[in-house]
Amino acid sequence: IKVRFTIADSCRVRVAVRLRPKNSEDLAHGADFDSCVELQPESKRLKLKKNNWSCESYKFDEVFSENASQKRVYEVVAKPVVEASHAFWIPLVYLDMQHRTSQKKCSAFLTLVTAEKIFSSTLFFLLLSVVIGTGKTYTVGQLGKADPSERGIMVRALEHILSSMSFETDRVAISYLQLYLESVQDLLAPEKTNIPIVEDAKTGEVSLPGAAIVEIKDLEHVFQLLQIGEANRHAANTKMNTESSRSHAILIIHLQRSSRIKEEFSLSNDTHDIFPDDLPLVLKSKLLIVDLAGSERIDKSGSEGHMIEEAKFINLSLTSLGKCINALAENSPHIPTRDSKLTRILRDSFGGTARTSLVVTIGPSSRHYSETSSTIMFGQRAM
Ligand code: ADP
Ligand code: MG
Repeated sequence: IKVRFTIADSCRVRVAVRLRPKNSEDLAHGADFDSCVELQPESKRLKLKKNNWSCESYKFDEVFSENASQKRVYEVVAKPVVEASHAFWIPLVYLDMQHRTSQKKCSAFLTLVTAEKIFSSTLFFLLLSVVIGTGKTYTVGQLGKADPSERGIMVRALEHILSSMSFETDRVAISYLQLYLESVQDLLAPEKTNIPIVEDAKTGEVSLPGAAIVEIKDLEHVFQLLQIGEANRHAANTKMNTESSRSHAILIIHLQRSSRIKEEFSLSNDTHDIFPDDLPLVLKSKLLIVDLAGSERIDKSGSEGHMIEEAKFINLSLTSLGKCINALAENSPHIPTRDSKLTRILRDSFGGTARTSLVVTIGPSSRHYSETSSTIMFGQRAM
């Protein structure tokens, strides 16, 4: 049996850095404004200036200047991942009662396919910065309902999927969650809190029982759901007396395609009796888009109890994520996902043919040199 898909490149993590334009706080410094960042887009390098005597240069897969458009950021970092989500399906349900006799052989075949890691269920990318206000939510979550040029990665990814799918055979649905103080909350159904994270013992697939999975028909529906999610994120955080930037937001895009075995696999002649050509096959794939919490105030945080608690959990999940991404970048067979809920949700995204893109956002001001430096180091370690 020959499988049609080939793995184009390894599942190395791609890391891009994005510099946001000066904000009003930066501009208030006028002529005294001191930038610590210089980009060299041709060589994909970033120079970070500590002071007049000390300057380090770092290479990334891509560097985006303050003039980079949302469209360009999407096309470079996200589009390849979204397209891969169409190319790497995992066979799911492939049986019809009529084909009872071939059940056993089919499952042997599918076990072989998954054992060879030809498929992976998940692809994802993350937005990361230690510094709040550097453009994570802008890059990933901006709706741009009225102005399409402003649209962020979530809207563009769903727009792309909707425009390229076949409505006869394909279905797309989303879940939208928030992770705060190691508790998973549903942003589409806010009454649901403390959602468990369950891993299928056989397939390793991660699911969140109870979380809403809403099927999407068009872009208007996407705006509606993301707006509901955004409002719930804001309301939940107001209630808990925290800022949205202190929680992780996770959008899960579920893709499913009904197909026939002959459409997906080129079968050799001697297998025709085992797999009738029209054997129904359901394939699925999953795409995760994560807007990570900032951890800026961890060192500076005051004595307020909940802020210390918050900082502890944000630190835990970012440290644990860092370890997983480093292990991924080093092609390590063991990815240590057990330490935090964030990495447990991402567990089935690590390894296999999963694609990972990381966007590190930074601001230009030298006042935030040390946070900017640690953000850049996180990105560098992931490569
Ligand atoms: P974060 O999520 O990292 O805390 P935000 O995405 O909320 O930061 O960005 C803070 C502010 O800066 C927002 O008003 C946002 O619109 C603006 N901003 C961030 N990045 C850019 C950019 N590349 N271009 C224009 N405005 C930006
Ligand atoms: Mg934010």
